[in-house]
Amino acid sequence: MAFQETIKFIQDKFKSKDFIPLHAPVFIGNERKYVMDTLDSTFVSSVGAYVDLAEKIMAEISQTKKAVAVVNGTSGLQIALQLAGVNTGDEVITQALTFVATANAIRYNGAEPIFLDVDYETMGLSPKAVSEFLDEFGEKRESGTFNKKTGKKISACVPMHTFGFPVHLDELIKVCSAWKIPVVEDAAESLGSFYNGQHTGSFGQLGVFSFNGNKIVTSGGGGMIVTNIEDFGKLGKHLTTTAKVPHAYEFYHDQLGYNFRMPNLNAALICAQLEQLDRFLINKRKLADAYSEFFKTQSLAFRQELENTKANYWLMCLELENLEERNAFLKVTNEANTMTRPIWQLMYRLPMYQDCFRDDQKNAEYLEERIVNIPSSVIL
Ligand SMILES: *Cc1c(COP(=O)(O)O)cnc(C)c1O
Repeated sequence: MAFQETIKFIQDKFKSKDFIPLHAPVFIGNERKYVMDTLDSTFVSSVGAYVDLAEKIMAEISQTKKAVAVVNGTSGLQIALQLAGVNTGDEVITQALTFVATANAIRYNGAEPIFLDVDYETMGLSPKAVSEFLDEFGEKRESGTFNKKTGKKISACVPMHTFGFPVHLDELIKVCSAWKIPVVEDAAESLGSFYNGQHTGSFGQLGVFSFNGNKIVTSGGGGMIVTNIEDFGKLGKHLTTTAKVPHAYEFYHDQLGYNFRMPNLNAALICAQLEQLDRFLINKRKLADAYSEFFKTQSLAFRQELENTKANYWLMCLELENLEERNAFLKVTNEANTMTRPIWQLMYRLPMYQDCFRDDQKNAEYLEERIVNIPSSVIL
């Protein structure tokens, strides 16, 4: 029967005939030690040294000046967009082929997503689609770029590095710079992914990572805003800690802030996980190489990193022939306890985003019908 070889290969790789998840976390370093340390010290919550340490490590890894630890990637995106200058009534360019959090973060700021197509090869926002949209609808004014059809300000652009494969960052940054539109990278999936030797998340004004349980490293729940703009770092910290003005005992908050700070307990976990990141990356690359060799023998298209990029191989994927083959693959593999998942449904299929502007979406719709994720956990 079709795909039996694939199921067998995956079971052999993961040495299991039981349920094989898409991505399971592994805790083989200092996780217990650091988490216990927060319990022993009683500093589990909003005060503690692990938050500062996690921020320091993440600024280093992402090659940025400032990192702000937050409760999850979604709230990180929400704040990053606010810092970039997104306001109620604005428009924000992004891709429809993404996890819902990207679009939600735009809406939380009272702005409307503009869904533009992805590139076939990166599965992320297409610089060409952005350029064409702006050539047709963009109008430069003193206070920024406006959509001449709707009259609304286009206040940010949010590319997302799908499954850890970087978008064409140079071209995208070039287009957005020409139109003076700030770029906020949704780098939730791309910790450990590089473009021309530079870490994803460090190209835009701001970048956001997620440490959710299914990501390459996890803090249980958590995220990180990174930026090379010192003021954004400072204001980001302030906004995510209820905008409290430091004082020995008085409570004074100088603007509408949020309780989005990462608790020390979660920060302890991510510090230990980040120590393992290089090992995880090497390990996942080995699995990707093995998949690549195997799928050649099956005439199945395994997605590999593009030239001048280094992917983290967070969730590995296959491109199937068509929707029927995709559906057959999902059915057979899941019935065999081998977890596989389709890529997300495009955002404009969801009720809250069905009326948003979108371009032709040729590549997004093609990929939507064909891309599936296969088990991608770190194998020890
Ligand atoms: C995981 C993810 C997020 C959100 O992260 P959370 O930490 O779960 O809030 C945002 N965008 C993308 C593309 C993601 O994959």
